[in-house]
Parts: sequence; C-alpha cells; structure tokens
Amino acid sequence: MKNKFSQLNKFNINLPEVRGVIKKNFELSRLSWLRVGGPASVFFQPEDEEDLCFFLSNLDSSIPIFVIGACSNLIIRDGGIPGIVIKLGKNFSKIKYNINDISVGAGCRDSYFAQICAKDGFDFSFLRTIPGNIGGAVKMNAGCYGSYLSDYLIGLTLIRRDGSKFDLKASDFKFGYRTSSIPDDAIITNIKLRKNRNDPLMIEKKMIEALDNRNVTQPIKDLSCGSTFRNPIGRSSLGNKLDNDHSLKAWKLIDDAGLRGYKIGGAMISKKHTNFLINTGKATAKDLEDLGELVINKVKKNSGIELIWEIKRVGIT
Ligand SMILES: Cc1cc2nc3c(=O)[nH]c(=O)nc-3n(C[C@H](O)[C@H](O)[C@H](O)COP(=O)(O)OP(=O)(O)OC[C@H]3O[C@@H](n4cnc5c(N)ncnc54)[C@H](O)[C@@H]3O)c2cc1C
Repeated sequence: MKNKFSQLNKFNINLPEVRGVIKKNFELSRLSWLRVGGPASVFFQPEDEEDLCFFLSNLDSSIPIFVIGACSNLIIRDGGIPGIVIKLGKNFSKIKYNINDISVGAGCRDSYFAQICAKDGFDFSFLRTIPGNIGGAVKMNAGCYGSYLSDYLIGLTLIRRDGSKFDLKASDFKFGYRTSSIPDDAIITNIKLRKNRNDPLMIEKKMIEALDNRNVTQPIKDLSCGSTFRNPIGRSSLGNKLDNDHSLKAWKLIDDAGLRGYKIGGAMISKKHTNFLINTGKATAKDLEDLGELVINKVKKNSGIELIWEIKRVGIT
C-alpha cells in the first residue's frame, strides 16, 4: 500500500482553485462498474464547463489527466490512476430539444436519456440497455441492435488538455466499430444528436424487448463491463458494409476454446455469456486482466484468431 501511494504521489500537484469538488487519493473502485481498481491521485468533478476550462488552463501541463464516465467499459488497475481523474457531474446532464437537434450533456446516463426522449417521441431505444454515460458512448461509439451513437451524432463540444473549448462537427472525427478518433486527453462536455422521431408506444415496446432480451442472454446482474472482446468482424457504423457478416462471434471462439466458467482468483468467464468477464465478488483488476489475457492466448491456440480487448485497461499495476 505504501509503495502504491508513494508512486501516485510523485506529482507534487499544485491545484488551481475551483468551484467543483476535488478529492485526493480517491478510491476509484467505488465508481467502477467492476468494483475494482486503485485510487486516483486527484479526483476532480467540475462545477461547469467554465470551471473545467479554468482548472485545465491553470494545471501544470506535465500532469496527466483521464476522464471517466460511468466506468462501465474500464478495468482500472489495482495501482490506480496517477494524475487527475475527471468525472462530469449532474450539471453536465441536461437534455434540451432545439429546433434542429437534441443537445445532451456528456454526463447524462444513456438509459435516462433514452427514456426521456421516448416520452417525447424521439427514438434512442438502443441506448436504453447501455449502462454508460453519453460522453463514454460517443468516445466508444457505443451501440447495439443495429444502431450506433455515431449514426445520430451531429456535433460535440470538446475541451482540450490546455483548457480550450471547441464546438466541432461529427464529420471532424472518424467513428468505427467501438472506436472513435476523439483524442484521449479531450473531454466531451456536450453533444448534439439528430432528432429520430417515432411513436412513443413503439419506442417503449422496443425498450422493453431490449431489456427482456438482455436479461435472457446476458449476466446483467453480475459485475461486468459487457462484452470483453470485440467481435472479430463487426459492423462499421460508417457504411453498413460489414453488417451482414456476424459469423465470427467472440463468445463462440471463447466457448470453443473450453473457457466457459473458467476462473482466475475472483474473476470468471460467465457461464451465461462467454464474452462477459465477471467479478464474482473478490476479484482484483489483476485477476480480471490476467483472465482476459489467458482467453486471448487460448483462443489464438485453438482457432488462430487473436481477440482484441473491447474493455479499456487503464492505470498502473
Ligand atoms: C452490462 C453491460 C452491457 C454493455 N453493453 C454494451 C453494448 O451493448 N454496446 C456497447 O457499445 N457497450 C456496451 N457496454 C460497455 C459500456 O457501457 C459502453 O462502452 C459505454 O459507452 C461506456 O460509457 P462510460 O460512460 O461507462 O465510459 P467509461 O467506461 O467511463 O470510459 C470509456 C472510455 O470513454 C472515455 N470517456 C468517458 N467519458 C468521456 C467524456 N466525457 N469525454 C471523453 N471521453 C470520455 C474514457 O476516457 C474511456 O476511454 C456494456 C457494459 C455493461 C456493464
């Protein structure tokens, strides 16, 4: 423990005075969907965009920053994240209907956004079952049931590491299957989405079906980050060309390698869905990452195919 903290405290961090919340040595496992991970040297929840810009423009440029959303696609390593971890709070969750688009704060929960829009006849039902925040959904180009965030994205507000703020168009970035070209040190604060009208009853029906479907096929009550590995062939949201070929599913490759229910420490390959890596209760980030690496090796030996992590691993061991 002593070692871990001495490493994290190597930055003699002089912090700008802000209106938001700052906490030192903040345990990130409290926020992580997998309930693992060490502390952030500094955790910062800005009050608003102005506060965030001020903080960044007055922060020593050698100090690394990392933005988290709901941590539903992250394994935060046991040694934590050195530097500043930024999380957007409730003031970044506003939803506004404009004449030509819908604007939503990057800290808004995907499922909440989908439900509010549904009542007003805007169909973002695919977001109902994705547990992250809108900012994370843009960065990851989250999607399911044939829809991807980038299919509706018109523009976004970004704050760069030096505190400068930009309003950019979706076409300024590249989006692919679970990827985007948004720089890692840029913070999305707000996005604009195309209005996608549908009958509210129809949207509600789609959302209930999606929830039921997840419940039957996925271990949604376990601690996980959803799909651990990318499907070797996935749909690119730009063009639909690869959409029809789903012959190579990561879960099938993992199952064929005999890994259903396989465990390392408290980490386990779900028996219900083999592309879900779960924390059975006492897993460390190391257990989870080691198990993921073991899966990659065994699947490679068994099928010749190298799986690629969809979950991001961040921080130090
Ligand atoms: C049960 C379960 C089911 C899931 N099902 C799906 C699914 O069907 N489809 C799917 O695509 N994903 C799925 N996921 C994965 C996850 O929910 C998505 O990847 C989600 O979009 C991540 O959002 P987040 O807010 O949790 O981001 P985090 O996990 O906190 O971060 C992910 C990445 O986004 C970046 N990021 C977060 N917020 C911002 C921001 N404001 N600005 C810039 N970068 C940011 C982080 O730096 C990191 O690189 C599932 C996860 C779980 C637990």
